[in-house]
Amino acid sequence: MGYCIYVTRSTFPRILYDMLRDAGFRLEVWDNSGRGMWDRAAAPPRDVLRDAASRCDALVVTIGDRVDEYVLSNARVKVIATYSVGYDHIDLEAATKRGIPVGYTPEVLVEAVADFAMGLLIALARRIVEGDRLVRGGEAYRVWGEYLGTEVCGKTLGILGLGNIGVAIARRAKAFNMNIIYWSRTRKPWVEVALGIRYVNLNDLFRQSDYLVVSVALSNETYHMVNEDRLRLMRRGSYLINIARGAVVDINALVKALKEGWIAGAALDVYEEEPLPAAHELVKLGNVILTPHIASATVETRNKMAEVVAQSVINVLLRGGKPIYQANRV
Ligand code: NAP
Repeated sequence: MGYCIYVTRSTFPRILYDMLRDAGFRLEVWDNSGRGMWDRAAAPPRDVLRDAASRCDALVVTIGDRVDEYVLSNARVKVIATYSVGYDHIDLEAATKRGIPVGYTPEVLVEAVADFAMGLLIALARRIVEGDRLVRGGEAYRVWGEYLGTEVCGKTLGILGLGNIGVAIARRAKAFNMNIIYWSRTRKPWVEVALGIRYVNLNDLFRQSDYLVVSVALSNETYHMVNEDRLRLMRRGSYLINIARGAVVDINALVKALKEGWIAGAALDVYEEEPLPAAHELVKLGNVILTPHIASATVETRNKMAEVVAQSVINVLLRGGKPIYQANRV
């Protein structure tokens, strides 16, 4: 009998299923139709995932599928591939000690996510979403005279986490004539030289930024890194943008900061709880832009992510090779 692949969503781009089937694999697909891919309720229950890991040869998962010691306790899978660049939902240690390589999808989504981050930044600065609401509400021209945004040119952009996406955001911000500062776990002198950007310590990043973009991976070290103390360091009139992972930001502290005017506004694509509950405090605030985890959501990027996932499974099962991008060492 051929290899069995357990796929935790039925709504990945079609090419993912086609490539795996064309390779001769038998697919078991969890049906999440009617629910968004990142919706936690779209994921298979943990017992189902654990059972799949004990029967199948590969798991194709994504954000919202917690792959941990419990899920892997009886595992016989030979590879796990996640349709995401973040792998904070996978216990790498649990996979590594069982010799299971974990594939993920960096690089292919970098440009799309960086475009989106700049889109949010400009939308905040120039109040584009508010403007849309005003026109639809028939109020646009009554408020026209007082309807002012703030400049982007000449302002300081702070980047929290200078990984692939952080660098791509810096490249774009250069073209907007912004001053760019960053903090990252590892200092990147070659990027500083190439892009003319400046490394600062973490507190200074919060103090000096007019726009602060969070592009750091979620880990134990970065959980709630944007907390009340650090938000209090930010300039009045500054903006926070989070395109990384919701749990990097302490959302209660952010709500307080927005309500009490420590910062002027925020744009969030990610939330600790996804989807964000409709009754959440944030939804009631006017000075925020909220998007549903769509920073990488372009047709081109999502197809490339699907190809990377499928090819990674094929590489391991049929060619004795490795995932295209591997998050752990086995
Ligand atoms: P990347 O190139 O791997 O960069 C990861 C960044 O996180 C680097 O700045 C790295 O710091 C930092 N980092 C990792 N572990 C850390 C730790 N323990 N403590 C402090 N910093 C740590 O990844 P990327 O492609 O830029 O993506 C960044 C994140 O964006 C992803 O992890 C993902 O969560 C998120 N993302 C969101 C979307 C979306 O749809 N909203 C799409 C794609 C990605 P150093 O490089 O300095 O070591």
